[in-house]
Parts: sequence; C-alpha cells; structure tokens
Amino acid sequence: MFGHLPRARLATLPTPLERGPELPGGTRLWVKRDDLTGLGMGGNKARKLEYLCGAAIAAGARSLVTVGAGQSNHCRMTAAAGAVLGLEVHLVLAGDRPATLTGNQLLSAMFGAQLHHTGAGESHWGELEIAREALTDELTEAGAQPYPIPIGGSTAVGAIGYAAAFFELMDQCEAAGIRPAAVVFTSSSGGTHAGLVAGRAMWRTGDRAAPEVLAIGVAKGVNLGMPDVHALAREAVELAGGDPALVERGDVHIDPNWMGDDYAVPTAAGDAAIRWAARHGGWVLDRVYSGKGFAGLVGNAERGRWPAGSDVVFIHTGGMPAVFTPGGVPDLATR
Ligand SMILES: *Cc1c(COP(=O)(O)O)cnc(C)c1O
Repeated sequence: MFGHLPRARLATLPTPLERGPELPGGTRLWVKRDDLTGLGMGGNKARKLEYLCGAAIAAGARSLVTVGAGQSNHCRMTAAAGAVLGLEVHLVLAGDRPATLTGNQLLSAMFGAQLHHTGAGESHWGELEIAREALTDELTEAGAQPYPIPIGGSTAVGAIGYAAAFFELMDQCEAAGIRPAAVVFTSSSGGTHAGLVAGRAMWRTGDRAAPEVLAIGVAKGVNLGMPDVHALAREAVELAGGDPALVERGDVHIDPNWMGDDYAVPTAAGDAAIRWAARHGGWVLDRVYSGKGFAGLVGNAERGRWPAGSDVVFIHTGGMPAVFTPGGVPDLATR
C-alpha cells in the first residue's frame, strides 16, 4: 500500500505496544512507544521523516531545511536524519540563541545542524515559515539544493508515516487480543493526526472494525482547524493510491480542552499526568506535548467517554529531551 513511495529507513520499527495499569473509570491503558523510534533519541517525527527524506533524496536534494519552536523535537530529529543520510541540515528556530544550548537545541547542534535563531515568538508559526522560505531561497541560490520541510513535517508525504503506523498498531492489537475503543495522542501541527485518520480510512475498507482516533490539541492552530486535517488525510490516502473519499468528515476528532493558555505553556492537568505516568509506568512525558496529551486521555476516561473495561491506546509521541531544559519538569514534591 505504501511500498511504492520512496522511503529512507531511519526508525526502529515496529515500536513496542506496552500494557499499562488501569485508569480511573476502569479504562485499560496501552502505550504505543513511539518515543522509542530510535532516530536521534526518538519521537513521532522519525516516521514522517522516513517518507520526507525518501522524497528529498528522490528529488536529488543535498540539504534539508526545516523550522520549529526553540525546543523543537521535529528539528532535532531532522538534524539526526541529515546526519544519517549525509545531508546538510538548516534549522529555523523561534526565539534568540540562548547563552547555553540545552535539550533539543543541544542535540541538534551535536548532530551537526546549523541553527538559525529568528527571534520570532514561540507560537508565531506564520512568521517562522516565512523565514524558512527565505532561507530556502538563499540556499537554492548558493547551490545547496535544499529540500524544504514545513513545520512538524506535516505534509501529506510526512503523514504517510502515520498511515503506515496505524496498520502497524492494528496488527499489534490483534496479536495482543484486544480491540481498542480509541487511539489517543497529542496533536500540534496535525500531520500525525492526518496520517492516523488516513490509515484508519484505508484499514476500514477491509470491513474491519476501527478504533476512534482522538487528537488532543496542544496548539491554537490545530484547535482552530489549521491545518485542515481532513484535507491532509485525503491527500495522504490519494498519495498511497487509495480513494480520498474514504476519509469522511466525521473521522476527525480534536479535543481542544487540554492546551491551557497557549502552546508550550504548562497546565496543572498536564503536570499531574506527567507525574502519574512517571510513577506508574516509568514513562517520561514532557510539558509541551505528551504530558498534555496524556492528561486529555485521562480526563476523557474520567468523564466516561469509553465504557468501563475498554482498552485505550496512548501513542507516546516522545518529547523527552525537553525534560533537560530549564522548567522542563513540573514540581516533583507534589503527589
Ligand atoms: C511534534 C510532536 C507532536 C505532535 O505531532 P504533530 O504531527 O506535529 O501534530 C506530539 N508530541 C511530540 C513529542 C512532538 O514532538
């Protein structure tokens, strides 16, 4: 189904599906460990980068240009992908260059990427994309043959990684003898969500039961419907050789109630979820993404979204390096 698309092997797959403890409301938790994709300390972007870098190499690119928040996991994993594939990497980052590099920035520099600090605000994604386009033009002129990757790698090509992941997960659920009620994960630039929706639509064609795909939005854009996840999922299905009409309007569910004030602003629920996950499963969640996403899963379970005894899968999308940044961990004295 996806075999005709160019792909660079970057991730360690399949990632484990782990059984977790029971949650409030009697929901049985499973964790899909996409924090363990391997590439440059892992995370969800590795799956997208396999197809994005495949396309880049097929296009004859010699460098990658991408963009993100100051502590972008996507930028860090793109830097690692470039190191593996022998491509020069340029990262356009929000904010100013800190006196000391930490977390994802430190790793990106370690992987040999060039960091371009824009001074732009963390959530000013439009401004960041404009800076990426300007840098791409500069690099093209200089003969670096850049392949531009938008924020989060959330194009139809990148989303293919998560369409394939949906099939991988369904196979693992079958092997574990479960039929989950839902697959829940953190959504920020929308590509993971679009890919899962696309994969689910293709999976359904076999008359197979499919779990609900529920995105927990942690950025203003996705919570307002930008990008259009439905359109992106249709594009991904088409790219995979399927009928885009397989994706229905009702397939896209975004729960916007867990972002708090803004992207990357910690919440009490997210912090509580981080402590709970660390102390019940040894899982490392972060305050920007996976902590809020897991808070959304727990909150929906508490409110009875799924019948007691349901199996629910949390896709752990990663974000671990943020723990090693100033303010990266919530107050640990609180129970
Ligand atoms: C990028 C990211 C997400 C969100 O994925 P999108 O495809 O951008 O919506 C979730 N969790 C972590 C840790 C991420 O780095």
